[in-house]
Amino acid sequence: MSALSDIQSRIENGQRLSDSDALFLFEQTDLIELGQLANKFNQTKNSRSVYYNVNRHINPTNICVKSCKFCAFSRKPGDEGAYEYSLDEILAKARDVASQGATEVHIVGGLHPRWNFQSYLQMLSAIKDQFPQLHIKAFTAVEIDWLAAKARLSVAEALTQLKNAGLGSMPGGGAEIFHPEIRTQICDTKTDAERWLDIHRTAHKAGLKTNCTMLYGHIENYSHRVDHMRRLRELQDETGGFNVFIPLAFQPHDNEMGIKRYTLGVDDLRTIAVSRLFLDNFNHIKSYWIMLGPDIAQMALNFGANDLDGTVTEEKISRMAGGRSGMVLTKSQIHNMIRKANRTPVERDTLYNQIWHDDEDLRRSAERDEHRDETSMLLYKVEQGEALDPKQQASVAKFASIFELGQAASIVKKRVAKSPFGTLLPSYPLLNDGPLESLQASVDDVFSNSNTSHDIDPKKICFTLDLADPTVDCFKHDLDSLCSFISGANAKYPNIAISLQGIKSIWKLGQVKDLALEEVLERLSTSGLTNIESSLYENEEDLTTFELIDFHRKCHQVDINTIAKIEISSTYSGGSEPFWDQFIYKAGEYKKLHQETLGLLGLSLEVAAGSFITPLEFIRAIAVLRIITDNIEHTFVPFTKIPTLKAHSKDGDIGSDPALKLAAIAISFGGSDLGQIPITDSDPNRLIEELELSGVPTGIRNNTRGQSTSEGSTGLQP
Ligand code: SF4
Repeated sequence: MSALSDIQSRIENGQRLSDSDALFLFEQTDLIELGQLANKFNQTKNSRSVYYNVNRHINPTNICVKSCKFCAFSRKPGDEGAYEYSLDEILAKARDVASQGATEVHIVGGLHPRWNFQSYLQMLSAIKDQFPQLHIKAFTAVEIDWLAAKARLSVAEALTQLKNAGLGSMPGGGAEIFHPEIRTQICDTKTDAERWLDIHRTAHKAGLKTNCTMLYGHIENYSHRVDHMRRLRELQDETGGFNVFIPLAFQPHDNEMGIKRYTLGVDDLRTIAVSRLFLDNFNHIKSYWIMLGPDIAQMALNFGANDLDGTVTEEKISRMAGGRSGMVLTKSQIHNMIRKANRTPVERDTLYNQIWHDDEDLRRSAERDEHRDETSMLLYKVEQGEALDPKQQASVAKFASIFELGQAASIVKKRVAKSPFGTLLPSYPLLNDGPLESLQASVDDVFSNSNTSHDIDPKKICFTLDLADPTVDCFKHDLDSLCSFISGANAKYPNIAISLQGIKSIWKLGQVKDLALEEVLERLSTSGLTNIESSLYENEEDLTTFELIDFHRKCHQVDINTIAKIEISSTYSGGSEPFWDQFIYKAGEYKKLHQETLGLLGLSLEVAAGSFITPLEFIRAIAVLRIITDNIEHTFVPFTKIPTLKAHSKDGDIGSDPALKLAAIAISFGGSDLGQIPITDSDPNRLIEELELSGVPTGIRNNTRGQSTSEGSTGLQP
């Protein structure tokens, strides 16, 4: 029996995991297998329910006597950016959220040197008097420790007075990492682990429920995380007073530790999954979207998490540390995220009493459960190399779990792709709209390394010429100069990789000169062109599937390989499913074409304009595509086209990092190539590093014929 099967059977028999089991799960388990295990365990506790609440965070002050090294929030009195809200300001924020139907205010802040215990009691009782419907979850163990010491009270006495003034429960902050090896380095003057735990023990004895957290992704290692979780599990055994465990992903801005890296998406999911399995006496694991970002938070709902926190409205602590998630999600955004993860939204109060749940979603969940045996059987066939018919493909696309799909897709990928790792292609967009000579000069510059800061071998760079790019005009209607440029570049740099993009534009090239498409393609091929793909700028929706397939067939007939774009679409309304039937039909047609011509390098998955496809649905579509087109080497997941939920967060300032987090997950679920990475505005080496840190071996694909190379990457295991 393998170590994982042994762990699995012990979990099924209700046995508890040891520290070494948890370490094994962190270090050595396949992401899909780990997620599947955690997902199943979560569903035995929580079915398909995912909780959220309508709440608001209030951070009354960032003035703090401590100087934790990871903290970007705190300021000393008089510092730029230091603030303190008056009681009236705090009450105004509570009033605002109470009027919006919130059930909770979450209050945490710095350890203010001048605010005394009485002012905190006053804050609680004023909120409670004016807004009795609001549950007040307030003050970390570190704040309680500080307040009690200032008032010369025992923790038990301080908590009793706070409770009498309106305190309903305590949040879980300040736990960071308990292990002294780490705690002394990141927050040496803060309440230590034993005291933090003892304050929560005291709160539980006083009848106050509390949350607990773990700050990960900085200088700790997995064993520190396991030690941290074990201490929490022991206290939970003793008191049963914790509501929920919340892993907090480290935010890297403005800290004294010199850490600049966000946590890896794969590590976020692993941490959620291991915590779900290890903390067997906790009912709830929170996917805290403020710190994970909504994309990973949604994915985590399939990796063991069953709570998304709440609407939040204003949160300054992670925001000042580089949190990229905006500060508010509406109820309907939360519902959509949950539904599109195939889960049922349940509004809760702070203590996990149910306020509302969606009956329609329960019906859909039951429908999925009915199909479970059928989809398992169908995916077993796929794993054995059997093809499914379109009806069966639709059934697995709609009803199989993300893990079943991922597992089957990985098996197909191993069978089909020549390289069992993810690849990508550094590209240099030829944007020159001047004469032919200056375009050739751009290529010369790359080969002489005279105008670039990258350190990539120019022979591994693909020169892309997008005919539909609105900023490029020189070749749009000039086949002669285009062919002349391609043949000239090929003569000067043998085997140079040039990718021509824009299917409709290539068609137009012929129309201008009254040439048939076949002739245009013949001339391009003769000039040395080997690769054509869709444009980033061109909408192919007005071409029928038949016309598109025919275009690719004609390219293949003159020995030009192609990459076809395949789009997944849905209506732009939160709850709707992707249009799987259309997607499956198109994928099937491309499969048939490749059987006939062997000319497709792969299919490139994108979200159709105007569609609302969440990252989780996109990952699902990758796996479905990989399963259907089991004769085509690559399932391309263009890095620049990975959808994120940025449009749904208030500030909309999420950079490319959510896609960076999702890229490794995309490769783990059947994607085999991240497409072209323009070296003019991004660094392919950074992406490779990120993928390899995530445990996903990655290589640079060094030509447009789709062959991979093991050069340039340390993690390749062909
Ligand atoms: S983490 Fe909390 S205690 Fe530490 S400096 Fe920041 S606000 Fe103060």
